Amino acid sequence: MLDISTTDWRSEAQKLRIRSQALIDGQLVDAASGRTFASVSPIDGRHLADVACGGTEDVDRAVAAARRAFEDGRWSRQSPADRKRVLRRLADLVRANRTELALLETLDMGKPISDSLSIDVRAVANCFDWYGEAIDKIYDEIAPTAHGTVAMVTKEPLGVVAAVVPWNFPMLMAAWKVAPALATGNSVILKPAEQSSLSAIRLAELALEAGVPPGAFNVVTGNGPEVGKALGLHMDVDGLFFTGSTQVGKYFMEYSARSNLKRLGLELGGKSPNIILSSYRDTDHAARTSAQSAFFNQGEMCTCPSRLIVERSIHDQVVETLADTAKSYTPGDPLDPSTKMGALVDARHTERVLGFVDIARRDGATIALGGNQVRQDTGGSYVEPTIFDNVTSGMRVAQEEIFGPMLSVIPVDGEDEAIAVANDSCYGLASAVWTDDLSTAHKFSKNIRAGLVYVNCYDSDDMTTPFGGFKESGIGRDKSLHALDKYVELKTTWMNVAS
Ligand code: NAP
Ligand code: MG
Repeated sequence: MLDISTTDWRSEAQKLRIRSQALIDGQLVDAASGRTFASVSPIDGRHLADVACGGTEDVDRAVAAARRAFEDGRWSRQSPADRKRVLRRLADLVRANRTELALLETLDMGKPISDSLSIDVRAVANCFDWYGEAIDKIYDEIAPTAHGTVAMVTKEPLGVVAAVVPWNFPMLMAAWKVAPALATGNSVILKPAEQSSLSAIRLAELALEAGVPPGAFNVVTGNGPEVGKALGLHMDVDGLFFTGSTQVGKYFMEYSARSNLKRLGLELGGKSPNIILSSYRDTDHAARTSAQSAFFNQGEMCTCPSRLIVERSIHDQVVETLADTAKSYTPGDPLDPSTKMGALVDARHTERVLGFVDIARRDGATIALGGNQVRQDTGGSYVEPTIFDNVTSGMRVAQEEIFGPMLSVIPVDGEDEAIAVANDSCYGLASAVWTDDLSTAHKFSKNIRAGLVYVNCYDSDDMTTPFGGFKESGIGRDKSLHALDKYVELKTTWMNVAS
């Protein structure tokens, strides 16, 4: 059994054999054009690999392979029980290769190795297990129609589906789409984000080993405006399932409208309100948990509770505890198992995140903690946990998704103002309220426009619950049995059985 804390992760990293080609029709292949792009580690600026830079031709090849696999039934017509066995084997292979997969994730996008192992890789395996386990236990319907008729309502896979995912939880965001898509019998083309392609390629290779037939799960690496757009506009892609920014989500709507009206699932941005009320018995606990959730994964989280709305009477105590908790998130080496905050994904993103410090200042907020880039000597991209105080709801740091370790504290007077501020956003992904008053908890849960409401906790998580947002945070839900609906068409078959 591998011990996270005693493993020498640097020497494990040296031993890695990194795959950097696309995986199309069961084969690792270069881009048709021969082009590559450099995968650079945000840990220390090290060059990790030259990754195949796909384009329209590669997308066409992958879609054709996926279509062939779908039409000849090598996956789509396997029984649910057989698909279950393969997906569960894949889950086992993910667990068996957890060191390698966790290292790929950490090296490529900078998150702490202990998180990659205990959160990302574990959740990916669990996701494949869960949808594998579920798929042979779901029945179709016979509608209660008139005597002499039978109307069957059956679910059929969409066909060829694409998944386009971001870099913050690279493999997990992919698994949330690929697992239900494969479970329901679709063929899949995955496009990982350029900053984090490596684990996707390895995952698809493990899927082949598990028994997913060639063509049923392809990976085309490359950049969004080429590969992502080509998938979005493709006339033979039946559904496109996206996790990423709201802006790019809007592009996909446009691509769908301009092509074949392919079905879309959109998991987009967030600016989640987290409300601490004086009616909660333990202000310090609420503030500590809030800081941990805000700075987890370097704040690169769609559900990051980045707007802390607090009743003025407890404001000072909350800010003090937030700042104190933030100290344990001082950025460190992501390959050190004790590190809780790693590197931001790349230099460009780091620059954008740091830009919000000046924006906050100009708008009149105060910088209660942090605001600086650190560990520059490593050649990597690290930003201190940062707290903006005395923020008002109209300020840019209260409205825009920063996607870094930056938290805005907004003082309010009373519950109604808290709800109004919470809803003053184009986003509606996650939210939280801290209170010991049952009626207040219920009032907030009813009145906050968000797909997730946490009461006296944050980021509770389970495969059984749907995940996704209201408003510009997206359309549709990942996870849970509800997610399966995205990947199937309903077919009604009427039969006249009158005798
Ligand atoms: P992004 O810029 O929207 O990119 C996401 C994916 O879309 C990447 O694979 C990207 O490819 C591709 N893409 C970019 N431009 C494109 C275009 N013009 N046409 C087609 N595809 C395009 O998002 P990100 O910066 O990677 O990730 C951060 C965002 O994801 C945040 O907004 C965050 O809230 C959101 N997110 C949402 C959830 C959720 O479940 N709601 C979960 C996690 C993250 P390249 O990067 O390779 O160009
Ligand atoms: Mg990278």
